[in-house]
Amino acid sequence: MRQRLSVETYIRGVLAGDRATLSRAITIVESSLPDDRALAAEMLRGLLPHTGKSVRIGITGVPGVGKSTFIEAFGNYLTSLGKRVAVLAVDPSSQQSGGSILGDKTRMEQLARNPNAYIRPSATNLSLGGVARHTREAALLCEAAGYDIVLVETVGVGQSETLVKGMTDFFLLLMLAGAGDELQGIKKGIMEMVDAVAVNKADGSNGNAAQNAVAEYRQALHYLPESPSGVPIQVVACSAAEGTGMETIWQIIDAYCSKTTESGFFAANRQAQQGDWLRDQIRVSLEERFYTNTVVRQQMATVAERVKSGLQLPVEAAAELIELFLQSPAKPAEISGKS
Ligand code: GDP
Repeated sequence: MRQRLSVETYIRGVLAGDRATLSRAITIVESSLPDDRALAAEMLRGLLPHTGKSVRIGITGVPGVGKSTFIEAFGNYLTSLGKRVAVLAVDPSSQQSGGSILGDKTRMEQLARNPNAYIRPSATNLSLGGVARHTREAALLCEAAGYDIVLVETVGVGQSETLVKGMTDFFLLLMLAGAGDELQGIKKGIMEMVDAVAVNKADGSNGNAAQNAVAEYRQALHYLPESPSGVPIQVVACSAAEGTGMETIWQIIDAYCSKTTESGFFAANRQAQQGDWLRDQIRVSLEERFYTNTVVRQQMATVAERVKSGLQLPVEAAAELIELFLQSPAKPAEISGKS
């Protein structure tokens, strides 16, 4: 294991915007070793007064829609405005594949070399709960390191969108013209979550189709209830490959932030997210302690076998295990692996 630095060294390095220290600090918040958790907590406490000042933008869309290409183009555009941009990825699918889908590709090469951008490869082998915690904490570290904009990318699968929605101020959905909604993973509910839709690949022979798709989505949005932010959902076309539409998208986000700051929604939303984070954290910590509890671990296989063979109802079995957990000494077993 790499040598850990002192809390003060991490804090000083992060505040100075030193990327190497920021990376090492994020590694600490990604670790589930008890010593690292304690170090991470102390570090975050020290850095907390320096967080919260960025605009957090979630970006989602099915694989192939052009998220990496978009982030590269958008990130470079933002840095051209003098902004500092951090990119984080939520990639829970890595759990099944055993490797990071988002991290496997050589991604965002140009942005990666940009001195005003910081790209964190997605952590692998984490549960959804683990990813959520680490990404939120990593975002705080990036803010403390002086990044004005934090882009959080997610593959449009499963619950990861809800998760990213729950940790960002603005949620952007990338789509393609001509592909059926089904294909694009447009589940019921996703449209209600987004603040803007960008129809990507609006270039070459696809230009007209993209404009038509924009018109269709605008039409479809009329049937949705008003967004909780009070700001109407915007639909635009863009070409990540050619870098067009970036300015418009930034203007939409910037206007959204101004309007919601004025209305109070921006702050209220962040406060609600803090409350959700607390509840998530309680659930994740309880689960972690439950599954690493020595008595629970001893009994789990037997109980699971009884349930599988129909000798005991899952409800009963769960109650029995929880009772054992509550009665066993509080000290959790050594936590192995990552949460
Ligand atoms: P991701 O899986 O959503 O991250 O998608 P990528 O950024 O890897 O893009 C998938 C493919 O679409 C790549 O071959 C890109 O070069 C291509 N692509 C991305 N954006 C555009 C665009 O605006 N126009 C065109 N024509 N191709 C694009």
